Amino acid sequence: MHDYIIVGQGIAGTLVAHFLLQQGKKVLVIDKQHHQAASMVAAGLINPITGRNFVKSWRIDELIPFAIKTYQQLEQQLNISILETKPVAMLFNSVKTENDWLVRSSNPDVVDYVADDFQLDFYKNFMEDVQNGVEFKQAGRVRLKELVLAYQTLLQEQGTYLEASFDYQALEIEPNQVKYKGISARRIIFAEGFQATQNPYFNYLPFAPAKGDILLVNIPNYPAKDKLVKHGVFVIHLKEDLYWVGSTYNRDYKTIDPSPKAKKSLEERLKRVLKIPFEVVEHLTAIRPTVRDRRPFIGQHPHLKPLYLFNGMGAKGSYLSPFFAAEFVAYLEQEKALDQEVDIARYYRYYEENEVK
Ligand SMILES: Cc1cc2nc3c(=O)[nH]c(=O)nc-3n(C[C@H](O)[C@H](O)[C@H](O)COP(=O)(O)OP(=O)(O)OC[C@H]3O[C@@H](n4cnc5c(N)ncnc54)[C@H](O)[C@@H]3O)c2cc1C
Repeated sequence: MHDYIIVGQGIAGTLVAHFLLQQGKKVLVIDKQHHQAASMVAAGLINPITGRNFVKSWRIDELIPFAIKTYQQLEQQLNISILETKPVAMLFNSVKTENDWLVRSSNPDVVDYVADDFQLDFYKNFMEDVQNGVEFKQAGRVRLKELVLAYQTLLQEQGTYLEASFDYQALEIEPNQVKYKGISARRIIFAEGFQATQNPYFNYLPFAPAKGDILLVNIPNYPAKDKLVKHGVFVIHLKEDLYWVGSTYNRDYKTIDPSPKAKKSLEERLKRVLKIPFEVVEHLTAIRPTVRDRRPFIGQHPHLKPLYLFNGMGAKGSYLSPFFAAEFVAYLEQEKALDQEVDIARYYRYYEENEVK
C-alpha cells in the first residue's frame, strides 16, 4: 500500500513529493510527460517587489529564505544547479514611473530589498528610453524545468514514477483509501496546475487561469547576463546567447496554442527597448494556475476524505511552492493546521452550491 499518489509533477507536485519522501513516505507520482506544464515555460523568477505600484509580494519575507534553503538542499541532492541569485532591475521609461517609485522608495516594506548600486549609464548603453530605474536584491531565478526533469529521473530511478495521463474515471474512492488501476494508497494529492479545471473532484473551485506567451531569443553581446532586467518586458539570461523574453498575461484566451498576436507584441516591445540586434528562435506558451483571490488552493476535499489538492501557485510558483509544500506536508503528517488564507475550505460553499444545481 502506498501512502500517497500524487497526480502532476510540475514544481508543485515535485516539492510535495520531495517533502513527503523526506519523511519516509511511500509515494507514487503520475505525470503525462509534462504536457502543457507551466513549469516548463516559466522563467522561475523570484521577485520581491512587483507591479506598477512597487508592492512587496505577499509573505515574501518568509517565502524567499525558505525557497532558497529548499532549492539549495535540492541542488545538493540532485547534483545540479537550480538557483541563480541575481538582482531584478526595473527600468523606468517615464518621469511618472520614476515619481511613483520615489513615493514608494522610503516605505519600510521595500527599503530592505533595494540594492544601492543602480547604474543608469550601464543600462543606457544597450537599452533605449531609460529615464531611471532601481535594482532589487534578494531576487533571482529558479531553473524550474531542469529541477522538474532531474526530479523525474530521481523518481524513475526509485521506481516511484508512472508516466501516464491520469484517468479520473478509474479512481475508486473508499472512506480511508483510494484504488487506482490496482494500486492502493491512503491518500491522493492532485497537483495538475491549470489542468485541474478538468478534475471532476476539484473543478468547482474558482480557478481563473491566465495564459502567458514568451519568446526565446538569441542576443549576442548582451551585457546584462547577471541581471533580471525588466523594461516593458523581462529579459532573462538562460544559457550562452539565449534569453527568455516575456511575458503576456491573458485571462481571456480561447486556445492554449501560441498566439501570433502575442508574439508580435513581445517582439515589438523588445525591438522598442533593445539597442542590440536579436533573433527570435522559439515562441512558447503555457497557462498559469491563477486563482480569483490570488491565494493557493490547498487542502482536503469537502466530503471525499482521501482526496487532496495542492494547486493555485498562480504566477509565483517558484517561491510559493517550497514554503506551502512544506506546510502542506506538516498538515498531512503532523496535523499542523493549514493557514486559512490558502485552505480550500474557504470555498467549500461553492461545492455545496454545485451539488444543489
Ligand atoms: C509564461 C509564464 C511565465 C511564468 N513566470 C514565472 C516566474 O517568473 N516566476 C514564478 O514563480 N512563476 C512563474 N510562472 C508561474 C509558474 O509557472 C506556475 O506557478 C507553476 O509552474 C505552477 O506549477 P504547477 O506544478 O502547479 O503546474 P504545472 O507546471 O502546469 O504542472 C502540472 C503538471 O500536471 C500534469 N498533469 C496535469 N493533468 C494531468 C493528468 N490528468 N494526468 C497526469 N498528469 C497531469 C502536467 O503534465 C504537468 O506536468 C509563469 C507561468 C507562465 C505561464
